Amino acid sequence: MNAPNHGLAPDDAVVVINAGSSSIKFSLFRGPDFSPELKGKVENLYAGTTRFSASDAQGHPAGERTWADAPLDHEGAMRFLIDHAEEHLQGMNVRAVGHRIVHGGVHYSGPQLLDGAVLDDLEKLIPLAPLHLPHNLASVRAVLALAPQVPQVACFDTAFHTGQPALAQAFALPPSITGRGIRRYGFHGLSYEYIASRVPDFAPALAGGRIVAAHLGNGASMCAMHAGRSVASTMGFTAVDGLPMGTRCGALDPGVVLYLIDELGMDVAAVQRLLYQESGLLGVSGIAADMRTLEASVDPRAQLAIDLLVYRIGRELGSLAAALGGLDALVFSGGIGENSVAVRAAVCRDAAWLGVTLDESANGAVGGGIARISAASSKVAAWVVPANEELMIARHAAALVGAQ
Ligand code: ADP
Repeated sequence: MNAPNHGLAPDDAVVVINAGSSSIKFSLFRGPDFSPELKGKVENLYAGTTRFSASDAQGHPAGERTWADAPLDHEGAMRFLIDHAEEHLQGMNVRAVGHRIVHGGVHYSGPQLLDGAVLDDLEKLIPLAPLHLPHNLASVRAVLALAPQVPQVACFDTAFHTGQPALAQAFALPPSITGRGIRRYGFHGLSYEYIASRVPDFAPALAGGRIVAAHLGNGASMCAMHAGRSVASTMGFTAVDGLPMGTRCGALDPGVVLYLIDELGMDVAAVQRLLYQESGLLGVSGIAADMRTLEASVDPRAQLAIDLLVYRIGRELGSLAAALGGLDALVFSGGIGENSVAVRAAVCRDAAWLGVTLDESANGAVGGGIARISAASSKVAAWVVPANEELMIARHAAALVGAQ
């Protein structure tokens, strides 16, 4: 990969924080090449036993701790991480902390240096992402309080999609509603931006082409990109739209929500729980949200859940190819996209009509790196690109700090 000079010296480091509702993941990148130095997570915040674990660049354990019956909150976890980092980072100079921030609203179309005023502004976006944004911002505030001298950079999951054509962002609702920010935003933008940044390295001929990337993890979405820019995506106003996911339902006739409320007497909290936590692979199978468990199961309901995911991917692929006016390549990423040979094979089989021909042995031999899985004769190329949102955030954070 090209490593533009962001002014990072060999002992300079960038810390990346990805704070969810009950966990904080962190990674540390070092020097001008952004070599991964350390990564880890603090899990089970707020309930039960909080656990910390970290591993070094070789995957060897680099720290472990538990807090039995005294769970940490976001601030406590950040305080621990900063102390741990200070011990571990002897001789290293943390130039920036980059945060994955789920929503940047209409205005934040790129990485943003964080200060009190920007934080206040971002607080106003909480109604757009009430399940994620408060946790993202709690970590920023903790670093601001505990290490105010370190610059912090927000990298938004929505930013990559802000340049989509207006029609791709529109709902067919009256302006009195859409004027309140109710439109399609799209998410997983840092994953798609990373994929777009790698295309010129692994397939230069595709750099100006039409690509649909599928980020298939616990959350899952697809994005149509033309010449490295987002043109359309399956996630919309929230990250519950589009594909079925681990526990989220994906695209749903809004009439179903009205029926749940009107006929079944469900309140907002119950509907939210159903759509976000009890649906998707878990809801359909009744067994698990985890693809590995479903693939290992002989229960027909597990196969039904996988089939429904594959079917919806195929439907969305057709829709995104239409938005692009054709298709040159399909890219798989995320835990399922990178690891499930069977899901990739089924998606490629269903995409034969678009010109995708799978190379079965290449598909079976993907080994953790970027790999082409389509046959040499395939009209549309198919690739696997391991997700690396953290590196994207580190590069953005370093660039912004270097540009000051
Ligand atoms: P997140 O969105 O939480 O970052 P990941 O990108 O790690 O999630 O993806 C998690 C999903 O990837 C789970 O459904 C998991 O079962 C699936 N997965 C991971 N490894 C494999 C594997 N070897 N085969 C099939 N699915 C896998």
